[in-house]
Amino acid sequence: MVTTTVTVKFHQPTRERRREWQKAMRLYRDTKQYVIDGWENGNFGMSVTTSEIDNELYAAIQNQAIREAKSDYKRDGIAEYHQSQPFAVNNQNWEVDTTDNGNVVIGFPCMSGWWYTPVEVYDEVDEAVQKLIDGEADKSRLQVYRRGSEWYATFNVEHEQYVGGETPVGVDVGHNHVLAVRVPDEDESMLVSGKEAKYVRRKYRSLRHSLQQAGALRARNRVGNKEQRRIKDMNHKLSRQLVEFASKFENAVIRMEDLEGIRDGNGWDGVHSWHFYQLQEFVTYKAEKEGIEVEKVDPNNTSQTCSECGEDEDTVRDGDHFVCHECGYERHADLNAANNIARREGETCSA
Ligand SMILES: [Zn+2]
Repeated sequence: MVTTTVTVKFHQPTRERRREWQKAMRLYRDTKQYVIDGWENGNFGMSVTTSEIDNELYAAIQNQAIREAKSDYKRDGIAEYHQSQPFAVNNQNWEVDTTDNGNVVIGFPCMSGWWYTPVEVYDEVDEAVQKLIDGEADKSRLQVYRRGSEWYATFNVEHEQYVGGETPVGVDVGHNHVLAVRVPDEDESMLVSGKEAKYVRRKYRSLRHSLQQAGALRARNRVGNKEQRRIKDMNHKLSRQLVEFASKFENAVIRMEDLEGIRDGNGWDGVHSWHFYQLQEFVTYKAEKEGIEVEKVDPNNTSQTCSECGEDEDTVRDGDHFVCHECGYERHADLNAANNIARREGETCSA
């Protein structure tokens, strides 16, 4: 449930109404004081009814005053109401509606009758008020009060959180393309070349290798640190790019393979598997900041399975090309994998 507190200003209420509301505020306060004093002095029991109240307020408003006094009394004991109090109407005895020319009006009883008065609705609360008018939300009591020369009403609107369909964004992390991203529902893709990652990896591997031969242990460690920084920067950039892409879709859910047990035979040796792991961590916390969920899915057979028909044996992957001999589907191999990943139910991970 989402609760929105709405305050609206009455639009030029007539003098007659203002006078009545002013009086209602005073009578409301008097009613509360009267019942609290009555309880304190033992004049009547806690289950006092409106028959004990002798004033011009509508019974619904008198009742609301008794309810409020009761909760004040239970909390604070004897209370003294000095200031004028907003008067309140319980949720069943007021309504919000629109007139034929689109003005929003609030209707409630007071003393002489049930009046509808136009109100000015601010943009920030417009959606909540509209939900109420459309009958898609519940309302609380209505409070009416004055500030300076203006009159206001305030109330809460409670509605269910919108639960729309999610848009899965499948991400395949790999060698040729460090990111292959597929949004099957929107038929959109993003491919990020793995060239830079490959270059970094090769460069530092050969550096390490030559230093190893020279027996330069400290220099080798320095190279290792440099490489790690380089990769960290790359992972920051890649994760940002991915989260930006995903944020274009409504209720995006990023699905990635669970990279804890990294795939074998994909050209990434154990030394470099932490790149992937780090990338996933960066994606998770950047996505979380944007309110996008990240799920880890089972990585089994994501690249061998045809994302069109589900065949996982009679398929061929040749470099970047994927062909399914069962249904004839052909596509970029990494995007086929990303499609499969997008469609798998995953486990939510958090940063
Ligand atoms: Zn197929």
